[in-house]
Order: sequence, then structure tokens, then C-alpha cells
Amino acid sequence: MSEKADNLVDVIRSRVLSAQLPRYLNSRVFAGLGDGDVCVCCDTAIERSELEYELEIGPEDDSAPPCVMHLQCYQLWFGVLRSLEIEGTHLRAAAATAPDGGERRVPRTT
Ligand SMILES: [Zn+2]
Repeated sequence: MSEKADNLVDVIRSRVLSAQLPRYLNSRVFAGLGDGDVCVCCDTAIERSELEYELEIGPEDDSAPPCVMHLQCYQLWFGVLRSLEIEGTHLRAAAATAPDGGERRVPRTT
């Protein structure tokens, strides 16, 4: 994997963690040719000559802009989701704070 792709993985990962990108795989994904929409992963337009993947986010989010990605970005995003699933228990444990404000020891699972 190229260095650029590694950086993009970091970008996608931080966007997933900050809820700018979906953190679950939706049941409906539409694939088609690009229409000039901007990819939500790499912020570049998806040209007509490129494949675009559009995620259906759900009825409550009808007003949200379309969640479209390049095919390559979709694959990176999917890889990020898979890596987060593996680390999921660790992330949840790290987010928990002790009620008394003290530090809580989190057993490392990795
Ligand atoms: Zn992209």
C-alpha cells in the first residue's frame, strides 16, 4: 500500500471516530459511475470515468448530503471499520471514565 493510501486510512479512521463517516456497514450500497460529487473520504470529485459507491444512510438522514466514495476509498473505509470492530472492546473501555473521576485501569486485549 502506498504512503498516500496510508495517510488516507488515517483520515478515514479519524472521520469514522468523529462520526463524520458512518461507522457501520449499511445494508444498501449503490455502485455507479461518478457524477462529479465530492468523495466523503478523500475530498476529491468522483469523475465520470471513475466508479462511485453511495451508501444509503437511512430515512432519518434524508436531508444529509449523499455519502459517496470512490471504489478505492470505500475499500479503505471498509477496512477501517473492520479494524475498529477488532479494537471495539478496547475503544469502549478507554471511553469509560470512573464515576469518582479517578483513573480506571483498562486491561489491554492486544
Ligand atoms: Zn475518494
